[in-house]
Amino acid sequence: ATPTALMVGTGRSAKMGILIKNGEVLEAANDVQTVVFDKTGTITVGQPVVTDIIGDQKTVLTLAAALEQSSEHPLAQAVLAKAKREKIAVPAAHGFQAIVGQGVSGQVKGQQIFVGSERLLVQQKLTMATNLQAQLQQLQDEAKTVVIVANQQEVLGLIAIQDAPKPTSQAALAELKAQGLKTVMLTGDNQRVAAAIAKEVGIDQVIANVLPQDKADQVQQLQETGRVAFVGDGINDAPALTVADVGIAMGSGTDIAIESGGIVLMRNDLRDVGKALTLSKKTFNRIK
Ligand code: ADP
Ligand code: MG
Repeated sequence: ATPTALMVGTGRSAKMGILIKNGEVLEAANDVQTVVFDKTGTITVGQPVVTDIIGDQKTVLTLAAALEQSSEHPLAQAVLAKAKREKIAVPAAHGFQAIVGQGVSGQVKGQQIFVGSERLLVQQKLTMATNLQAQLQQLQDEAKTVVIVANQQEVLGLIAIQDAPKPTSQAALAELKAQGLKTVMLTGDNQRVAAAIAKEVGIDQVIANVLPQDKADQVQQLQETGRVAFVGDGINDAPALTVADVGIAMGSGTDIAIESGGIVLMRNDLRDVGKALTLSKKTFNRIK
């Protein structure tokens, strides 16, 4: 490889807000067949908003907010923002616990409360009334993540949270498809929600309910059929960004994601994924 061509190629891309860290990435980008995306903050804006509350709004919101004030999760921010808008006095929680990829638990006002996914409910051996289950599925089909609020005896309510796709996600996916690439979404969220968002933006395959520690494994499985690029932004995404043939981090992402990616998209525009791959290929073919 001639260093000058490399510099020219990466220099030009840098002007477009695409940082290519090294020559290995240029080589790897050549034969990419599958592009895998994280959902939250990558395909979606990453600023979830509460849209619906099922059950007694004040009770549900008060209990959930009490626990979520100790959580770092984007869903927690949405719940707290809603509690603030509704002027809820948020009580303290004790014995707070974050259950990775599932939710949070702790004592609020003397009762043990769980806030999280259906998986968390199953673990507590709790079931949901059929009509509540139907409402939950309807909300999920509307691409809303539903957080369940329960105590040790029963489900107290549901909080539906929406995180809209970025305005350019659909165009970005269409471009990749036009380049003959297969697209996959990898998420810890529920299958119905993931499928609804995938349909909205035009993604070929959905792998949902993936625990943070299993994201890299999923990428490795996809690598059995060819080279894989992974696009992500979160702490959870760092192992997958490292394992992928081409790791592409969003510039707005966490430091560890940015460090783990071979390419960084400074404009946070998913349309730059296709541009980055094309540019890498061109540069590589010029210098090889
Ligand atoms: P994502 O891939 O969307 O970042 P995570 O692995 O962080 O997903 O979480 C998976 C699921 O676990 C969420 O969709 C949610 O149902 C539940 N969950 C995780 N953390 C919380 C929390 N703090 N409050 C409520 N639910 C949570
Ligand atoms: Mg994310």
